[in-house]
Amino acid sequence: MASMLERPERALVVFAHPDDAEIGAGGTIARWTREGTQVYYLVCTNGDKGSADPEMTPERLAAIREREQRAAAEVLGIKEVVFLRYPDGELEDTRQLRGEVVRAIRRFRPDVVLCPEPFRRSSYQHRDHRVAGRASLDACFPYARDRLHFPEHEREGLAPHKVGSILFWQAEEPDVFTDIKETLDLKVKALLCHASQMSNPGRDVPQRVRENAQQQATRSPEPMEYAEGFRKVEFRR
Ligand SMILES: [Zn+2]
Repeated sequence: MASMLERPERALVVFAHPDDAEIGAGGTIARWTREGTQVYYLVCTNGDKGSADPEMTPERLAAIREREQRAAAEVLGIKEVVFLRYPDGELEDTRQLRGEVVRAIRRFRPDVVLCPEPFRRSSYQHRDHRVAGRASLDACFPYARDRLHFPEHEREGLAPHKVGSILFWQAEEPDVFTDIKETLDLKVKALLCHASQMSNPGRDVPQRVRENAQQQATRSPEPMEYAEGFRKVEFRR
């Protein structure tokens, strides 16, 4: 299988918290939107636990993080951002969540869905990431494809949709890669929109992004300086 990632016409990014998409796939998304891909965001939780500030309340934080996420999406050229606003840390793999991912797939009709790797074995991960990744995989196959799942969508005027493939970021064994040298700066710029999540943004973020992209590039069979890697699962047509 070729390890260079092809650019899709339409992509849906499903993630747990404001900033996950930028961390996991910001360089790839920036590259795609620049070259004409329509990219949509589905943000599952409101991120209302992500603060150590003793003065912060969940309500204020949720509002701040939604603003930050809209700004980051603007930097990356996202067409539309949908917020599900589940409480941070309380995302559950329910019929309701799967239905909401399926609805987004049937609305935006992506060739590719991007989301967190739900099956990490040798390292820890946030529970919400695991839930978002698993619900996304199930939503792609078989739920979005089969019209008798979530029949209420048909009444909303939405048709079933077959997703071509799913890309998991932060995978332990990535097998496809994007060269993000040209969009590394945009990834940093988008991440810096999430100011509530940073203590020393100007210094730490560019360095962390660069080091992470270099590290991922070492795993690509094609020579790259800066990369984002994904595990790809293709759905049979
Ligand atoms: Zn997260």
